[in-house]
Amino acid sequence: MLTITELSTPVTRQVHPPGEIWHSIQQVNADELGKILKFLKYPLFLRTPYWFAVSSVVKERAGNRCQMCNSPENTQAHHRTYEHRGFEHLHMGDLVCVCEKCHKQHHKPEIIQRAREAAWRRKATRDEQNARDGIIILKKRHISACRTKAGGFRKETYRLLTGDITWPQPEGWIKRLRGLRVTQEVYEAALRSAKA
Ligand SMILES: [Zn+2]
Ligand SMILES: [Zn+2]
Repeated sequence: MLTITELSTPVTRQVHPPGEIWHSIQQVNADELGKILKFLKYPLFLRTPYWFAVSSVVKERAGNRCQMCNSPENTQAHHRTYEHRGFEHLHMGDLVCVCEKCHKQHHKPEIIQRAREAAWRRKATRDEQNARDGIIILKKRHISACRTKAGGFRKETYRLLTGDITWPQPEGWIKRLRGLRVTQEVYEAALRSAKA
């Protein structure tokens, strides 16, 4: 018989058989157990004896086959909704058995979205830091703004931005300006040199 604490404590290796855990789940106070499970971070929740037993029942119920493609390989339990997190054993219809492949396929849009959001957050942090440091990362619009009225690019402007004194530049030199980090001061000087 496992206690509420044991049922809800993440472990690296499951030592109790799922049947024993499942039996314990039926004996303890569901509200008390659910409250703890609900607030566990999801990756930790997945490592609790509770989830081990619940997911085992889900897989067994499906004959250990994917309910999408019928494959018996690497089956896992998938939440159709997270509404009853921590109370899954009272809402077993929320769970289905799927193979790893189908499961990944199903969550792919979320995974892509999450990766995108993380990249945006990283970029926003970088941009903020650069703004605080007075650093400009040259983008197309910055470079275009440094052109002369006639659309040319002055040697002086190029020198200011790159610190490179050689001229004429090899092919693709405009491209090389892209992504260059310059201080606000240098950039303003470059702008002035273009309009001079
Ligand atoms: Zn899932
Ligand atoms: Zn499948």
